[in-house]
Amino acid sequence: MMREYFDRIYSKPRETFYEELKYWLKNNEKKFIVTANPETLMIAEENSEFKNIILNKNVVIVPDGIGIIKGAKILKYDINETITGIDICNKLFEYLNSMNKTLFLLGAKKEVVEKLRQVLNDNYPNIQILGSVDGYVENKDEVFEEIKEKKPDVCLVALGIPRQELLISKHIKDFDKGIFIGVGGSFDVLSGSKKRAPKIFIKLKIEWLYRIVREPKRLKRFFKSNIRYIGKIRKEKI
Ligand code: UDP
Repeated sequence: MMREYFDRIYSKPRETFYEELKYWLKNNEKKFIVTANPETLMIAEENSEFKNIILNKNVVIVPDGIGIIKGAKILKYDINETITGIDICNKLFEYLNSMNKTLFLLGAKKEVVEKLRQVLNDNYPNIQILGSVDGYVENKDEVFEEIKEKKPDVCLVALGIPRQELLISKHIKDFDKGIFIGVGGSFDVLSGSKKRAPKIFIKLKIEWLYRIVREPKRLKRFFKSNIRYIGKIRKEKI
């Protein structure tokens, strides 16, 4: 049932979400945020462990992508604004900087995560980066043991779905505070290693198209999940 997922997707305006984000940080709350697009939901349909994460009431699911907004419209859910992983990262950086809080980065290639660390040092000097580990180290559970000792206020995990969410889910019970979020390919963009789509693509809500044109290998993945997604949504339309 697609409705199971839509029932759980954050439906308030983007700005309200950012206010909540700020509140959670300020109050040292523990949060697990998942950014959902059609592919995310299709992975949940195939992977029961991942599905349990999406359906867990303690997890915040935000609509990352126009496909979710369109699906919501068809199913008559009042979900109107996308909230993307990159935008959340940028907000978090801003808040962490103004609150003098701490950050841990896990994921992406070594040179990418190091470059991101540099970019953050230059632009957000008050953020204390407690660690930055690339996403190709063999034992990521071990990295999480380090994160548990360091207790960052925010932990960004950029390994792609569903790997990043499964890893966070496995370890989050051992934390008392911290905002944990899987951010996919965001480090590549935030570090300046990969360009985000030109503004016009973002404005026209066709950023996905830009990503496919730049990386044609995404095409198969895109069609596979989106065609199934549309099919499932239509089936549940009343
Ligand atoms: N990645 C990683 N370790 C791996 C495989 C991938 O750190 O073993 C990183 C990769 O470098 C990239 C991100 O995970 O930065 C996945 O990016 P993608 O755009 O494919 O993410 P998605 O579309 O799943 O959000």
